[in-house]
Amino acid sequence: MPVLVMKFGGTSVATLDRIRRAAKRVGREVANGYDVIVIVSAMAGKTNELVGWVEETATFFDAREYDAVVSSGEQVTAGLMALTLQEMEIPARSWQGWQVPLKTSSAHSAARIEEIPTDNIQQKFDEGMRVAVIAGFQGLSPEGRITTLGRGGSDTTAVAFAAAFGAERCDIYTDVDGVYTTDPRISGKARKLEKIAFEEMLELASLGAKVLQTRSVELAMRYNVRLRVLSSFEDNNENAGTLVCAEEDIVESNVVAGVAYSRDEAKMTLISVADRPGIAAAIFGPLAEAGVNVDMIVQNISEEGRTDMTFSCPTDQVSRAERAMEEAKEKGDINFHDLVADTDVAKVSVVGIGMRSHAGVAAQMFRALKDENINIKVITTSEIKISVLIDRKYMELAVQALHDEFGLDRAA
Ligand code: ADP
Ligand code: ASP
Ligand code: MG
Repeated sequence: MPVLVMKFGGTSVATLDRIRRAAKRVGREVANGYDVIVIVSAMAGKTNELVGWVEETATFFDAREYDAVVSSGEQVTAGLMALTLQEMEIPARSWQGWQVPLKTSSAHSAARIEEIPTDNIQQKFDEGMRVAVIAGFQGLSPEGRITTLGRGGSDTTAVAFAAAFGAERCDIYTDVDGVYTTDPRISGKARKLEKIAFEEMLELASLGAKVLQTRSVELAMRYNVRLRVLSSFEDNNENAGTLVCAEEDIVESNVVAGVAYSRDEAKMTLISVADRPGIAAAIFGPLAEAGVNVDMIVQNISEEGRTDMTFSCPTDQVSRAERAMEEAKEKGDINFHDLVADTDVAKVSVVGIGMRSHAGVAAQMFRALKDENINIKVITTSEIKISVLIDRKYMELAVQALHDEFGLDRAA
């Protein structure tokens, strides 16, 4: 029988009643003749609560134990979903990541999927089981420890299963009815896209649009998975939601496809470091080793052999970055006068494949921000995106101004 993957995010399994509603959707696809692989997230808010408990217990925690704690939310919903389906007389059972086993790297809290053996689950399908319920977000390291795939990782579990089983489609059920030109919670003018290219979705996701985890888009692109985002609260027809697809399958599109933002950014500045060959390596080596995800980097003009080095990273990695820099200073690898952390910044980005062939997008973006009196602190660009770091209090204003400036409320 053809296989369908259906993933339900946190809000879609937030209560027993919602789990029943999700199970009914699954039941309809079973009736349509599919063997279904259901991927579930933890109930809404659960993972945040678990992360909070870990952080309250230990500032510099053992990531293996973090994973042991935060993976537990999905265990509950997987079991409840299987029970709900069984109550509906649909043959179903649940699998935890380690039972599949979904094999990952040992990068705890940000593990990468390496292999999904299919025999175990396939055998159950062959014996008449119709739904395999899989706990999302988790796997097993080569050392035999539970790993997690990073926040939002259930999307990646879903796409990886769709690829491994050659599923006809991977449907991501969430609390919005598709991918929008920007977060519909920030701008009332956000417009739902019928289709979006993999590359654009990849950029939007990595720049903060949490509707899909970045890695899930990467996998869908690599294995050509038909990926659809749709609402778990509405009745959906064949063409509901947004299809994430190859660029060639999109006829018309705007130069800028969407605006993304990331609230949890911090700007760190090392004041007065020696401007010498190897200084960047001496700074960013220890940061990488400490697991700090450095994003933007700016080295300022040097004066009398000294310079300031600015970088951005997620706010929850600031203390880790500070510790890494203090340690490098104690060892004598670097010398700096001060390390200043500005945790009140946000990143706003515009993304679009059209930028490859269209000049002037950056200038237009900067002008729109100037018109709102928003000061830009750091800028980075790539072929299809431009990002700026600004004061967090202007983030929503900037998103709305850019959405207006590039006419995203209207189709091309
Ligand atoms: P789930 O729990 O189902 O995985 P998430 O909260 O991870 O859901 O992702 C869905 C949310 O992503 C939406 O509620 C929306 O606020 C946010 N979002 C951000 N950018 C976009 C966008 N461009 N299009 C749609 N949703 C977006
Ligand atoms: N529950 C995890 C999280 O909140 C994984 C997911 O929902 O995708 O990050
Ligand atoms: Mg999510």
